[in-house]
Amino acid sequence: MKKRRFLISFTTHLLLLSVLCTTISVISTFHMPKSTDVHTPSDTIPSSFTVVLDAGHGGEDGGAGSADGIVEKDLNLALTLQLGEMLQANGIRVVYTRKTDTLLYDKNADYQGRKKVLDMAERLRIAQEAGECIFVSIHMNTHPLTSCKGLQVWYSENNTESIGLAQRIQTNIKALQPQNARRIKPSNGTIYLLRQLECPAILVECGFLSNPEEARQLNDEEYRAQLALVLVASILESRMQN
Ligand SMILES: [Zn+2]
Repeated sequence: MKKRRFLISFTTHLLLLSVLCTTISVISTFHMPKSTDVHTPSDTIPSSFTVVLDAGHGGEDGGAGSADGIVEKDLNLALTLQLGEMLQANGIRVVYTRKTDTLLYDKNADYQGRKKVLDMAERLRIAQEAGECIFVSIHMNTHPLTSCKGLQVWYSENNTESIGLAQRIQTNIKALQPQNARRIKPSNGTIYLLRQLECPAILVECGFLSNPEEARQLNDEEYRAQLALVLVASILESRMQN
């Protein structure tokens, strides 16, 4: 079984490498973060552009959950931090809406019944103050049918670059999820942050926690690193086209 697992992992890496080929041919120096990399504050990193990473939910808002207790907010944050590290390793400025397990509202203010509203307003403020940027919100999905699986990207209709970025991710994810036949979807005004933001903005539902097999994969750090690699490659490709 160990040998089989190694082969699957090796094949996946080869597939992901092919996703990166287009990017690498244009950017000759794609960097993976080293464990020895110093964590520099995001605002001091020289860069050509900024990516705002938004880990969905947090604190008392756990989001979706798996049958065996995996909570969406934790995976969103873990993936977001992995993604941010890879982007920063490639010289891209990263702004996070949250880097800890919290909802973004003033704990000293009158927040009764308004936690989510205040949280959303704060995420919006951070993204708007980041300047020219790409906004990427990270979430995990859930559905009553446990067979549902696969990443799906929602995009903002306010900026034409959003649809191109969404499509790249939806296409490139096939390297990791070959059976993924999902299509990108417009937010149609139903997703607050995508409705409000004028910059290229997407929300990535990375997979279904209601699907036990996919929940197990999403909970695996190595799988999340591969997922992050697909997102980084797609972001870089998209930026080079615009
Ligand atoms: Zn969510």
